[in-house]
Amino acid sequence: MAAGPRLKIGVLALQGDFGMHAKALARCGAEAVEIRKPEQLAGVDGLIMPGGESTTLLKLMHEWGFVPALEKFHAEGRPIFGTCAGLILLARDVENPPQFSLGLIDVGVERNAYGRQKESFEAHGEAMLAGRTTLVEMVFIRAPRIRRVGAGVETLAAWRDEAVMARQGNVLVATFHPELTDDPTVHQYFCEMVSRAAARRRGAVRAAADRRGEPVTESPSCEASR
Ligand code: GLN
Repeated sequence: MAAGPRLKIGVLALQGDFGMHAKALARCGAEAVEIRKPEQLAGVDGLIMPGGESTTLLKLMHEWGFVPALEKFHAEGRPIFGTCAGLILLARDVENPPQFSLGLIDVGVERNAYGRQKESFEAHGEAMLAGRTTLVEMVFIRAPRIRRVGAGVETLAAWRDEAVMARQGNVLVATFHPELTDDPTVHQYFCEMVSRAAARRRGAVRAAADRRGEPVTESPSCEASR
């Protein structure tokens, strides 16, 4: 099959753990773009919001005008993947303590919820992705816990019977850090989400251009979905 232009996926690079996500995306055949200003979101098909300190990330997001830009990005049907602090920023409700969040996925999270003894640890959890159950390597670092899963939210992975990865439409979240392992499963899944959404958006643009009799450009793709 002829390869289209490469899929471009942004990684929010305000603070925290963004470098390793770029490496994980490269393994899936996608081009990672570090996003430091809201205007840069226009050039990417999907976005990863990495781990870090959610209070610091929030402060920077407000300072740089990211909140309306991310709402628009989501409304346009472009996928967003939040890991750890990224999940906290995307959740509907946050506790311990309560703080502002974008509310783009209907889950309730508790910050730093594993207590001092278990602040950081590694585990293997079960993921149900594309109809198959697989074991996924999970690194938890001062991780939040998903305390409430809304009716429209699908649990994609669990550890000790508790949701640790979930999806609602084009929003994917994980309480753990898949970028810190060599296991490509989770990034591959997100690349496929982005690839499908990009094809849908390009399809809509193509249909509109066809109606006007204008030429169109090809859809991007990522290796994972070829
Ligand atoms: N404990 C951090 C917070 O509440 C999240 C930690 C992480 O992203 N690894 O913001």
